[in-house]
Amino acid sequence: MNDIDVLLQETRSFPPSAEFKAKAHVHDSRLHDDAGMAPHAFWAREAATLDWMKPWETVCEWTPPRAKWFTGGTLNVSVNCVDRHIHGPRRNKAALIWEGEPGDRRTWTYWDLYREVNLAANMLKRLGVTKGDRVAIYMPMIVESVIAMLACARIGAIHTVVFGGFSPDSLRDRINDCGCKVLITADGGYRRGQTVPLKRNADEALKECPTIEHVLVVMRRRSGVGDETFAEMQEGRDHWWHRLKRQVPKYCEPEEMDAEDVLFILYTSGTTGKPKGIVHTTGGYLTGAAATTKYVFDLKDEDVYWCTADIGWITGHTYLTYGPLANGATCVMYEGAPDWPDKDRFWQICERYGVTVFYTAPTAIRAFMKWGAPFVEKHDLSQLRVLGSVGEPINPEAWMWYHKVIGKERCPIVDTWWQTETGSIMITPLPGVTSTKPGSATTPFPGIKATLLDSQANEIAVGGGLLAITHPWPSMLRTIWGDDQRYVDTYFSKWEGRPDLYFPGDGAKRDDDGFLWILGRVDDVLNVAGHRIGTMEVESALVDHPAVAEAAVVGKSHDLKGQAIAAFVTLRAGFTQSGSLRDELREHVALKIGALARPDDILFSADLPKTRSGKIMRRLLRDIAEGRALGDTTTLADPSVVASLKDQYEAQE
Ligand code: ATP
Ligand code: MG
Repeated sequence: MNDIDVLLQETRSFPPSAEFKAKAHVHDSRLHDDAGMAPHAFWAREAATLDWMKPWETVCEWTPPRAKWFTGGTLNVSVNCVDRHIHGPRRNKAALIWEGEPGDRRTWTYWDLYREVNLAANMLKRLGVTKGDRVAIYMPMIVESVIAMLACARIGAIHTVVFGGFSPDSLRDRINDCGCKVLITADGGYRRGQTVPLKRNADEALKECPTIEHVLVVMRRRSGVGDETFAEMQEGRDHWWHRLKRQVPKYCEPEEMDAEDVLFILYTSGTTGKPKGIVHTTGGYLTGAAATTKYVFDLKDEDVYWCTADIGWITGHTYLTYGPLANGATCVMYEGAPDWPDKDRFWQICERYGVTVFYTAPTAIRAFMKWGAPFVEKHDLSQLRVLGSVGEPINPEAWMWYHKVIGKERCPIVDTWWQTETGSIMITPLPGVTSTKPGSATTPFPGIKATLLDSQANEIAVGGGLLAITHPWPSMLRTIWGDDQRYVDTYFSKWEGRPDLYFPGDGAKRDDDGFLWILGRVDDVLNVAGHRIGTMEVESALVDHPAVAEAAVVGKSHDLKGQAIAAFVTLRAGFTQSGSLRDELREHVALKIGALARPDDILFSADLPKTRSGKIMRRLLRDIAEGRALGDTTTLADPSVVASLKDQYEAQE
């Protein structure tokens, strides 16, 4: 029971080239083997690469479901991300290469970052922020966002970053949930040529945020937005960042933080329901972030690393800010949309800065696929050497497209499975070691123990089941802010009497080589004629057809089968929808993975409903397919997509 059927067989395999292997940080199985036998020793070794003020006494204290890591140790995250790089050869190295959507550019060295973080930390102090206070950050993708996060870390304030695309209501709820004292925002930002009025949204939210005492406002200088009149400033409460900066001391002594002190709270993206305030701490989180960034991306000093995630998501915390900066890397940061002013913007950026490591999400890859290869081919991408994917399962055909068109069959792809809750990457290839397979996140990161279980906690050696983490890891969440019971109930109560087993909520399969394939969320699993089928495999069978760029499938109740499959499909450039294409796609699925999975309905659509972080929201598609009123749509990127789909679906019935 609770096993998941396995339908898709994918046998293509891509070993790293001898040339890549020769230069990689990790090129054989020893790291996995050693860490597998002694995970604590592995993590302690990685933690020791950080700068500690006081060494820890115990590596890990585990009283399920509570873990503490590096207890007794003290450190400061901003010191690890900035200060320790300014005394050696990295002092003048580019830390952040930033590009605004309108085309403005700026490079910040580690020394620049050091100065700015100190000033920002003193600004927060001036506004009365002290250790343990919560600070909300509601910003566009500008360097001050990263500076604000590091400034909080420097003085021991807990930041909670709220994605700049969220509405005033979402901002208000998050600020109130954790009782923020200060909000850092900007007058505006740019998105697809429009200005996003962040300060106005913030003012709207703040009408109902009694705990906020001060607002610090960055001016995003550019005609129109960079005008102090764009934001209305409330006397006494609101302060311009550039003005306050001139009034504070230049150096701020970093706070000595306990390894288990809270570093930040981040609300999950809300694909499944009410956002949860995930709590991450200092020493363990930074250890996980730094180690995974180094090994998963094979990051070196000469690399130009670009993670396209927004700082409002966990990926923007761990792999745009903390992980790469702790490693002293050069990072690219881009403010705007991938299709502005045209659909080659990302490749233009890769070419301009000579990006070597590129990390993005399947939703973006499928959009590039939909737009077509000519946008990519206009640019020289010869510097690229590692490609990454995160956020959703990547369909094998999207993986192949990434491999061929972007990576020119030369760059290893790391498909990284993890969550807001896990803090850092959990299941992933290592690019110099793993022979990757399209669609598989492959094996657990060294020091991580992940497996597949059935509902009785029996291990499934080969086949489909529930993903479980059986051992604590340093960057794991410690609780849900203000709702500790929900922490226990959501993550550690899946298997009766086993509070030691972490349940991520995803289904997966394990193949004969022991590789893991994420099949999608357990809540989305289809139940067709007694077979439990993950969404990923049916969607991948659809994307396998040359006409299809993206697909989402859901189950709808059916008298005989229990559930029938309804599919929502987006076509690639150059293909048009038709009745015969619909029949062809149904047969294609039947042929590829079996008649059982043949969709009953297929609806063509220009777009699919997605969260603001780009994940397909299947629960809303289920509401459509079953003719119900739509559930909560507040975390959708574009609510009009789902409304129009509902109309189309009803018209077709
Ligand atoms: P919420 O928990 O609020 O519903 P969310 O799960 O979308 O939101 P995140 O923590 O951003 O929030 O996403 C983690 C989830 O994303 C994973 O549980 C998994 O379902 C999916 N995911 C992330 N990376 C991968 C990957 N490489 N392959 C497959 N699925 C992935
Ligand atoms: Mg989740």
